[in-house]
Amino acid sequence: MSGKSELIISKIRNGVVIDHIPAGRALLVLRLLGISGREGFRVALVMNVESRKLGTKDIVKIEGRELTKDELNLIALVAPTATVNMVRDYEVTSKFKVTMPNVVEGLLKCKNPKCITNQQREPVKSRFRLVSREPLKLVCDYCGTIHELSDIERSLGLV
Ligand SMILES: [Zn+2]
Repeated sequence: MSGKSELIISKIRNGVVIDHIPAGRALLVLRLLGISGREGFRVALVMNVESRKLGTKDIVKIEGRELTKDELNLIALVAPTATVNMVRDYEVTSKFKVTMPNVVEGLLKCKNPKCITNQQREPVKSRFRLVSREPLKLVCDYCGTIHELSDIERSLGLV
């Protein structure tokens, strides 16, 4: 091994590189983007690499999938420090820091089984509002149940 212990991943041609994800949150980021790995496009995941800013961080590279800024901003819920690089023909075409959405619709499941969004008949799309960034707190718009990071992890099937 050389002095620098760098983990090399090949450059991507078209896609998105998400950097500065807090260490250990890469899988959550993928789930928030609706990526399970079964869709067929290439995903590179680097976890627990050194970062000057964060100590350690995760990096996710997704090739061949278009993601909108709104979709990408969802990851701010679990990775507020994340930066996004959009790549076209191996060149970074735009770069931005994710910003937390105030409303999250249709993505997370309310943990209250009696919530109208969990009813079998006439299910309503879930909707959450951000009430606190640090620590993360989202409130269900329908029943008022507060959801924290652990609830979001559970909702995304990661616990
Ligand atoms: Zn609810």
